[in-house]
Amino acid sequence: MKKTVQKLKGNGIKITPQRAEIYRILAADNNHLTVEEIYAKIKKRFPAVSQATVYCVLELYCRKNMASEIRINFERSCFEVRTDSHHHFYCKTCKRIFDIDLHPCPALKNKETGGHKIEKLHGYFYGQCCYCRKK
Ligand SMILES: [Zn+2]
Ligand SMILES: [Zn+2]
Repeated sequence: MKKTVQKLKGNGIKITPQRAEIYRILAADNNHLTVEEIYAKIKKRFPAVSQATVYCVLELYCRKNMASEIRINFERSCFEVRTDSHHHFYCKTCKRIFDIDLHPCPALKNKETGGHKIEKLHGYFYGQCCYCRKK
């Protein structure tokens, strides 16, 4: 919790217990969570927090480059604390998103493809995750 507060302070973010808790939830296990999922978790500790508040705080973190939003499909926009370029694996069964680190990913290395300058890169793989495969 101390580390979270320091991080928020360092980014010039006014700290409230709710804001710190949202960051902590997101940072735990490097989760990829939807607004609804974060809201469900924070409601247990802060019943007065609204879903709109959670969304505003997440937007703030994205603006401050402390989190990023991933849109793999339209019904599911997720947030995570990683802000570096990386790929994802999307499980069609459990709908979970996993980080995939490809080193070296040629597009990431060259920062260019077909004459286009790459500023951000996000690819994703689709299939069945290692947990669902075991079932
Ligand atoms: Zn799965
Ligand atoms: Zn990720």
